[in-house]
Amino acid sequence: MQVVILGAGVIGSAIAYYLSLKGIGATVIERSGVANAASGKSGGFLARDWCSGQAQDELARTSFDLHKDLARTLPADYGYRPVNTFAAAVSVQRSFKRDAFAFGSDWIDGDCAVHQLLGDETSTAQLHPALFTHALLDQAVANGTSLQAGVVESLTIDSATQRLSGVQVDGEFVAADAVVIAMGPWSILAAQWLPLPPVFGLKGYSITLRPRDTIAAETLFLDYEDRAGEHHGPELVPRADGEVYLCGFGDQESVPVSPDDVTVDEQACEHLHAIAGRVSSALKEARITRRQACYRPICQDAMPVMGAVPGVTGAYIATGHNCWGMLNAPGSGLAMAELIADGRATSLDLTPFDPARLEACRVA
Ligand SMILES: Cc1cc2nc3c(=O)[nH]c(=O)nc-3n(C[C@H](O)[C@H](O)[C@H](O)COP(=O)(O)OP(=O)(O)OC[C@H]3O[C@@H](n4cnc5c(N)ncnc54)[C@H](O)[C@@H]3O)c2cc1C
Repeated sequence: MQVVILGAGVIGSAIAYYLSLKGIGATVIERSGVANAASGKSGGFLARDWCSGQAQDELARTSFDLHKDLARTLPADYGYRPVNTFAAAVSVQRSFKRDAFAFGSDWIDGDCAVHQLLGDETSTAQLHPALFTHALLDQAVANGTSLQAGVVESLTIDSATQRLSGVQVDGEFVAADAVVIAMGPWSILAAQWLPLPPVFGLKGYSITLRPRDTIAAETLFLDYEDRAGEHHGPELVPRADGEVYLCGFGDQESVPVSPDDVTVDEQACEHLHAIAGRVSSALKEARITRRQACYRPICQDAMPVMGAVPGVTGAYIATGHNCWGMLNAPGSGLAMAELIADGRATSLDLTPFDPARLEACRVA
């Protein structure tokens, strides 16, 4: 069976990995680079039960547990570790006194109140998103998957049978029995060729800091009050490699043609650094190692879109993972691999993510 996966983000890479465990060496087509978009620039934070009450609850719990298995099975070290996770308040309007009973350890020595335990080491974890995506794809390649650099331009569909036969990549035809659209926010391009719901991209800024000393494995979800009294929700994730990641702030800028053209707002990045400095003196002194921006893929109902594309044999989609793509990649990869290879997903119910639940759009 010839499977072609469009996009080497975490979702395409996870599908390639689980297909490779079933003896199917897919071809993954990527225009920019593995994990060059959101999958390399996200927080890499994982939570087992934060999707309770949502259609993706089962997906999240299954994925969180699969992450534990993957950390043991994949040969690469990608900084997976269980963490404690706290809610904290920071403000430029008021001062907080750190009391002796506050959560968190000594690195949190700034003007901030750490007031709630949101998750402990049994229910929250983290990983380095780019290293994780590479680890999945590298292992898939070791198992027979191929990675091809190129820009996907269109799909070839027989108009009489409505069966897909391949993909055009940089003017060349690549034959396929099955094609999976996993291009994150760029999956909207596929609405030119297939009856698919629209996928949007929401832009977010992030930085990484390199403090002198190691910061404890404690993730902070911040309630930050700015000068105008507006509240924002930056996230602060100390990583196993010694770097500290912070994301927050975004804008309405539309998705550019390629991840290589995503622009970074220096002011937003400096603002994130200033917030980190309010939390911890070690972070105030720390140097910024990366200033970056990326787009998370989101559909109308903010839930993933995964399954067979209605009406076109051999066409599949897996995107719209919004703010939980790193968390939900393993379950998505496993279930999509089962659907493609066996005709049915058995590890997870994919019905809530059926693309047919949303109205299809047509992009001219
Ligand atoms: C600031 C921020 C923080 C986040 N933090 C977290 C977090 O802590 N935990 C979590 O679980 N999730 C988090 N997320 C969400 C997560 O990053 C995304 O859901 C996930 O990365 C989406 O992966 P993807 O593979 O669908 O898309 P992408 O990573 O966007 O990958 C799509 C790929 O398709 C390729 N492509 C596009 N067009 C073409 C084409 N024509 N031909 C070939 N290839 C093409 C692109 O180059 C890209 O590599 C965060 C997102 C953001 C923005």
